[in-house]
Amino acid sequence: MLSIHTRRRFIEVVPLAGITVLAACSPPPPPKPAAETITPPTAAPQPAPSASPAPASVSATAPRLDEKDPQAMALGYVEDTARADKVKFSNYINGSQCSGCALYQGKAGDAIGGCTLFPGKNVKAQGWCSAWAKKA
Ligand code: SF4
Repeated sequence: MLSIHTRRRFIEVVPLAGITVLAACSPPPPPKPAAETITPPTAAPQPAPSASPAPASVSATAPRLDEKDPQAMALGYVEDTARADKVKFSNYINGSQCSGCALYQGKAGDAIGGCTLFPGKNVKAQGWCSAWAKKA
């Protein structure tokens, strides 16, 4: 027969022993994942500066557009607006010429200038073609 003292001691010790046994028998906890290495965000790659500058207007030394050029002929280009074929090109507007055209790249007062329709060539400021569009 157990004494009261012994029973009390048994009640105190058994739960602690059980916890100890359970802890000893349970599998070890899984290893904690290694702390992620946080790398600071890198700056987004910047585009390389453009190697080629914005297209410049045709230089004054560029060749002049030949009226016999196939594209020039198709558009009825003439170096003197007075010679424009007003019958064939009924869209001709009196007083229209390259210097007043939206596609003309020359400056005011220039005798010749580039035209976006004829890259690399100069047209006469007093010229005309059927693609003429009033400069804004
Ligand atoms: Fe002249 Fe304009 Fe014709 Fe070019 S598009 S040739 S600037 S009229």
